[in-house]
Amino acid sequence: MSSTDSAGLRHDWSLDEVMALHALPLTDLLLRAQTVHRANHAPDSVQLCTLLSVKTGGCQEDCSYCPQSSKYETEVGAEKMLSVDQVLSKARQARATGSTRFCMGAAWRDAKDGPAFENVLSMVRGVRELGLEACATLGMLTDDQARRLADAGLTAYNHNIDTSREHYGEIITTRSFDDRLQTVARVVKAGISVCCGGIIGMGESTRDRCEMLRTLANLEVHPGSVPINALVPVEGTPLADQPRVDPLELTRMCAVARILMPQAMVRLSAGRTELSREAQLLCFMAGANSIFYGEKLLTTGNPDVLEDQRLFADAGLKPMAPYTSSDPTVQATRDKGPIAKPGSVSLAARAIQPAVEPGE
Ligand code: SF4
Repeated sequence: MSSTDSAGLRHDWSLDEVMALHALPLTDLLLRAQTVHRANHAPDSVQLCTLLSVKTGGCQEDCSYCPQSSKYETEVGAEKMLSVDQVLSKARQARATGSTRFCMGAAWRDAKDGPAFENVLSMVRGVRELGLEACATLGMLTDDQARRLADAGLTAYNHNIDTSREHYGEIITTRSFDDRLQTVARVVKAGISVCCGGIIGMGESTRDRCEMLRTLANLEVHPGSVPINALVPVEGTPLADQPRVDPLELTRMCAVARILMPQAMVRLSAGRTELSREAQLLCFMAGANSIFYGEKLLTTGNPDVLEDQRLFADAGLKPMAPYTSSDPTVQATRDKGPIAKPGSVSLAARAIQPAVEPGE
């Protein structure tokens, strides 16, 4: 017997239930996921997010998939933090290509109080002033840091659980699964939307994949966004020799995430460049409704952006409008997203402009 919260969302999924969903014939799973998707989201809208590394490399954690870890010999070295001006310039470029969410990542085990954190707060304020949603991923947070990020206007905080509790120790040893959940709880408490998902293709079992999704769906508050990543094996990391993920496995994960967390944005994240147009559309049909977009942010003729714009045009998809409310209670806990709000037309129009100049 299942119970639902006041929004009609379940938080009591059993592993058997999730595994049964995951094992459905793919066409049946897609139909169920698409039905849930249409009841909760505009079926033709996809959120465009841009991700920028504001502090690259030299991280003390040992995440086996990550070239930014200082524990592994990779081509990614430790770099200086970008300045606030540099970041806001990138944010303007992202806005000009149609992105509505700007995500800033720092390769930190945890955020340290001091000038670097103050800079992040300035970046968040600046991004919000541009009319973009602001997301950050800075490692573990204290309650006070979460509150200060919320006060600066942060829309969402990304902190992935990566995999199941059981498989976690195979992937990361420098922090625990519970450390992760603790920061997620702090973010919720501060009234910031949680962005939390995981990665497949790291040697985990189907059971691990289902358990990861079950953990997210059974949180007291569903994450506002659920990134579903396919491992991109990187030379020099312990997972460099993992085989590529089959796109149909990614599709299944998107579909199960959509069914378990009907109101979340399901984000097709790392590994998307390996997917054909058809495989990406299958993921959208499975309920994915958010992508990372234009990461390279070239000034003109960015082929990644152009490819995405062609895909959107050919498939009749349109970019989702950003939040416009400054009311923190609207930003809080859930970012199921603005559906067909006024203003989305101009964003859609902007998103099909092929050329972008720096500094807009
Ligand atoms: S915490 Fe983030 S940056 Fe650091 S090694 Fe892990 S994934 Fe990479």
